Amino acid sequence: MTEHHNRHWRERSLAAVWHPCTQMKLHAPEGAGLPLIPIQRAQGVWLYDTEGHRYLDAISSWWVNLFGHNHPEMQAALTDQLATLDHVMLAGFTHAPVVELSERLGRLTGLGHAFYGSDGASATEIALKMSAHHWRNAGQPAKTRFVGVAGGYHGETVGALAVTDIALFREAYAPLVRLAATVPSPDARQAVAGETAVDVAERAAAALGRWLAEHAHETAAVIIEPLIQCAAGMAMHDPLYLQRARALCDQHGVHLVLDEIAVGFGRTGSLFAHQQAGIRPDFLCLSKGLTGGTLPLSVVLTTDAVYEAFYDDEVARGFLHSHSYTGNPLACRAALATLDLFEQTDALRRNAHTGPRLAAQLAPLTAHPRVRHARQRGMVFAWDVASSLPDFGRRYARHALAQGLVLRPIGHTLYVMPPYVIDEAEGDWLARGALAALQATLAEEAEPWSETRAAGGLRDGV
Ligand SMILES: *Cc1c(COP(=O)(O)O)cnc(C)c1O
Repeated sequence: MTEHHNRHWRERSLAAVWHPCTQMKLHAPEGAGLPLIPIQRAQGVWLYDTEGHRYLDAISSWWVNLFGHNHPEMQAALTDQLATLDHVMLAGFTHAPVVELSERLGRLTGLGHAFYGSDGASATEIALKMSAHHWRNAGQPAKTRFVGVAGGYHGETVGALAVTDIALFREAYAPLVRLAATVPSPDARQAVAGETAVDVAERAAAALGRWLAEHAHETAAVIIEPLIQCAAGMAMHDPLYLQRARALCDQHGVHLVLDEIAVGFGRTGSLFAHQQAGIRPDFLCLSKGLTGGTLPLSVVLTTDAVYEAFYDDEVARGFLHSHSYTGNPLACRAALATLDLFEQTDALRRNAHTGPRLAAQLAPLTAHPRVRHARQRGMVFAWDVASSLPDFGRRYARHALAQGLVLRPIGHTLYVMPPYVIDEAEGDWLARGALAALQATLAEEAEPWSETRAAGGLRDGV
């Protein structure tokens, strides 16, 4: 066995590396789960393993990659930055990449104050801390509660878990977490006969309104993933919900935190999802695509009003959150290169063509008799699959790999969130492989599918 064999790296990794979001036993040689794939290099939409097999990265490596892997512009920017300034602490010091990035993000969002972290969960923590501290500084120290949306996902550190409503991720840690309140999701799939997505949004907004009417005095902020609750299984809602949430937060004196860690940077069709609702949040959390999928970085953007509540002679009224790598120059430079690529490649306009083209290529999947709730927003596509297999997602992912595709369904929801550079031939590869993997997975069902037996069964499994 040589270093050019997948097995070599697989065995060494399983002995020494604890992989994320993984029951490690499923990777055991006798396990029923997915084989671990050692990746040697990547280019564009393709990942190459140590034996030279290639896989189309149809989920952008957990939603981070925007313009394909190893993009030459990104490489050039990072190489230049590495030769200039690798890192300097951001307390007492500043540097061009962090200043320029903050200015540009401020111009793009109307939120002129940028606080940096290194991952999405930290951005959530920063936004929640900042919101509660703002109210304390504003003389309303009782406002310390948060309210999130059913099925919401905002990261998995102990603070972020408070607003993450996904039982599997939270259950074991429930005693450690100060749970936030949860209001109904505006998930358009909940529409009953005769109802539209707008009706569902109105209904969910009314529930938020009722909650705030009772609890606003003790509530710091509402936190929402705008337009798509990705980790919930690409649950999509009408932008009206965001308009209603904005109005309710204003009416009740509660902050609106929008978590665009997954949906930011063009995924939904606009640069930021909330722009489709014509609103502005009090806090905007960004990460994932921020660096084009090259380096860890997150940012919380906020308003003058929030910033001013901390601006004082008293040190303790400042936002004293500290993190060693805050505003890392390399990561900020990658983010600047990402913003450059949006401009240089006219990415949003190109995606306005790529999205419908991919939808047409994926039409056979959408038309499959087992597919329910086919949905798309911008460059995100999802299908719920009616299957009696409790481990549908894991089985599907394995068949997808055999088709040269990285696709990891969430429960029974199959989704595609590709890098924006996916071309027509790659789209064909994706569409053909996704359908073939679906057929191969469904062929493993022990019993024939029956619609009546399935009630409520679509959302279990991981
Ligand atoms: C991924 C994600 C997070 C957490 O980001 P990490 O970098 O994984 O901590 C938070 N919110 C949303 C909406 C996400 O999709």
